[in-house]
Amino acid sequence: MDSCVHGSSADVVIVGGGVMGASLAYWLRHYDPAVSVVVIERDPTWSQASSALSAASIRQQYTTAVNIEISQHSLALLRAAPTWLALDDDRPDLGLHEAGYLTLADAGTAPVLRAAHAIQRSKGADVALLSPDELAARFPWLQVADLALGSLGLSGEGWFDGYRLLTALTAKARHLGAQTVHGEVVGMERAGHRVQAVRLADGRRIAAGTVVNAAGPWARAVGAMAGVVVPVDACRRTVFVLACPTPLPQCPLLIDTTGFWLRPEGPYYIGGVVPRNDAADLPLEPDHGPFETEFWPALAHRIPALESLRVVRAWAGYYEMNTFDHNGIVGPHTEVSNLVLMNGFSGHGIQQAPAVGRGVAEHILYGAYRSLDLTPLAVARIAQGRPLRELAVIG
Ligand SMILES: Cc1cc2nc3c(=O)[nH]c(=O)nc-3n(C[C@H](O)[C@H](O)[C@H](O)COP(=O)(O)OP(=O)(O)OC[C@H]3O[C@@H](n4cnc5c(N)ncnc54)[C@H](O)[C@@H]3O)c2cc1C
Repeated sequence: MDSCVHGSSADVVIVGGGVMGASLAYWLRHYDPAVSVVVIERDPTWSQASSALSAASIRQQYTTAVNIEISQHSLALLRAAPTWLALDDDRPDLGLHEAGYLTLADAGTAPVLRAAHAIQRSKGADVALLSPDELAARFPWLQVADLALGSLGLSGEGWFDGYRLLTALTAKARHLGAQTVHGEVVGMERAGHRVQAVRLADGRRIAAGTVVNAAGPWARAVGAMAGVVVPVDACRRTVFVLACPTPLPQCPLLIDTTGFWLRPEGPYYIGGVVPRNDAADLPLEPDHGPFETEFWPALAHRIPALESLRVVRAWAGYYEMNTFDHNGIVGPHTEVSNLVLMNGFSGHGIQQAPAVGRGVAEHILYGAYRSLDLTPLAVARIAQGRPLRELAVIG
């Protein structure tokens, strides 16, 4: 990562060079080559960044209209990535694999799935409700006896190479003239309702027209530097890589009634469960505890072939969990007018980054959203106590 900054000020200073910060930097320079953009990232290897540790999947099975719309806009951008992210001869292929999500419900949760389906269909999502018999016919390896319903994405859902998205956005943003600074933001200078500059651990000071909090799981700490509360916790999630000796043809991203998720990854499968201890800031090491007691029994029940699975390895990353309503917090802060938030995506941020970065760039440059209205995610809902609750939070 380039560690120079020309001068000590920029129109837009972005704290955090994960997928959100990189997307915003790209769109700002794409729209306006005259705007100066600095991205400050403390770890050029992204060793703890969620963007590098994610399951990189995209869905339309949400319960909040704006999330469905964001996914649809991001999907179009992911499909077109080789064009808009092209750099010289490199036309990034994000390996988008549209195998769908399959959300399962028992008799108790089937009404919730039907209600979610109605919202998704009203927004044009290509999702279908399947009976247990239809599920068994499509997925013969699935145990359906205790199921009442399944919701399957027929197109527009699946997974992609999230790390490639991150590196392609970063490279393209730099190519367009965004500067990257290797350093840690440790403080902000605030005067009244504005942030004037950020301060780095090595003593550097960078004055800013606009400061953007794109610090992922560390958004609360960065917000506090500007004197505001950003209700985001770093919640550890463990991903297990599994080998299954028996093929599971057409396997989508499965979300079980018990809450576990599973999807193919190359020759393997990856998946995880919601941890019982969800305290913030746990060390970023895989938690193997629930595997034997919860995950494996639930997997073997739903997919009997997985009785003979093998754990290949495991990793851990942080969800940037919005403790207020599990949705992104996006746009200018209500108390600090030139502080912009891109935070709290609660485990669905990598798929939202292309469209959210574009929207936030429009808001910064033009004072309004143009391609997609992101106002439902505005900061004001927190102070007003009006949660926009997303019920379909996975893992
Ligand atoms: C296990 C797991 C599975 C996931 N699966 C999916 C999925 O299937 N689909 C999906 O859409 N999303 C998924 N997510 C969520 C997704 O990865 C995140 O929402 C997204 O990557 C957030 O991007 P970000 O840029 O906001 O944060 P990050 O990628 O964490 O980037 C933030 C950056 O800010 C830097 N930073 C922080 N503080 C400072 C500071 N003071 N100074 C300088 N730099 C700083 C950090 O070093 C970091 O690089 C998953 C996440 C995890 C952990």
